[in-house]
Amino acid sequence: MTGTINLIPPPFKIGTIEVQQVVEMQSPLFDAAVFLPTSTPEEIATLAADFSPWALCSETGKLVLALQTYVIRTSRHTILVDTCVGCDKTSSIPVWHMRTDASWLERLASVGVTPESVDYVFCTHLHGDHIGWNTQLVDGRYVPVFTNAKYIFAKKEIEYAEQVAAEPRAKAYEQSVLPVLEANQAQLVDTDFALDDEVWLTPTPGHTPGHVAVNIKSAGVEAVMVGDAIHSPLQCVHPEWSAQPDADPALAAKTRIHLLESCLADNRLVLTAHFPLPSIGQVAAAERGFGFTLGR
Ligand SMILES: [Zn+2]
Repeated sequence: MTGTINLIPPPFKIGTIEVQQVVEMQSPLFDAAVFLPTSTPEEIATLAADFSPWALCSETGKLVLALQTYVIRTSRHTILVDTCVGCDKTSSIPVWHMRTDASWLERLASVGVTPESVDYVFCTHLHGDHIGWNTQLVDGRYVPVFTNAKYIFAKKEIEYAEQVAAEPRAKAYEQSVLPVLEANQAQLVDTDFALDDEVWLTPTPGHTPGHVAVNIKSAGVEAVMVGDAIHSPLQCVHPEWSAQPDADPALAAKTRIHLLESCLADNRLVLTAHFPLPSIGQVAAAERGFGFTLGR
């Protein structure tokens, strides 16, 4: 099912900005019917013809999901958007729990990104699969991996993470966010923060209250990294299907539909976090919901 996938797809340009995907892993991960609780088995079966085996594993009925980081090189900065699962992190998802495979860091180095060379780390939200490589375990302590970087977190997302601090998931916050705050490397921002005229956030609440999309623009070309506003291409056909981990399913659906509509309206390139590789494409009109044309 996973076949041979290139975990370091070739880089490409958005105007003068270079975009490089660095993938941590891709595999059938969650049972489609469980992960998309408002779907019916019949509806999922109908989608199999279009989405198996790429995004829906024929043998297991699981959604195939990628976990990846986008490396953005603008005229001014080297930026990472989301940092995957990482190593030595607590997770309720067995394949994410206490991983010892640090090959993501090697892949990052192989495209010329040393930890010291990163200027900014953006996190679309603070779930474990988007913040893992923010920190690493050194001598029994979690410390920031990107020692010279500012980590951009939405204030609202930090407040939410603190609110749910009693939940098991909060371990992710403790291990991958708190050490960054303590090292004074965090910059807490509004959900419409603009770094400059090339990189800015838009609020995309629902999956989490402070979830943001990261937009880039150069030479009149725009792309958007949508994080977990949408998880699977099956949700293009059924954008009303919120995902099991969406904190506010109704708001998540509203945000998803608005995002897909606006990307369709202005032909923005959509860089997803979790669609299987190539993970990138354009929203297209469709009889039901939206289409998604892979490629760039
Ligand atoms: Zn995610």
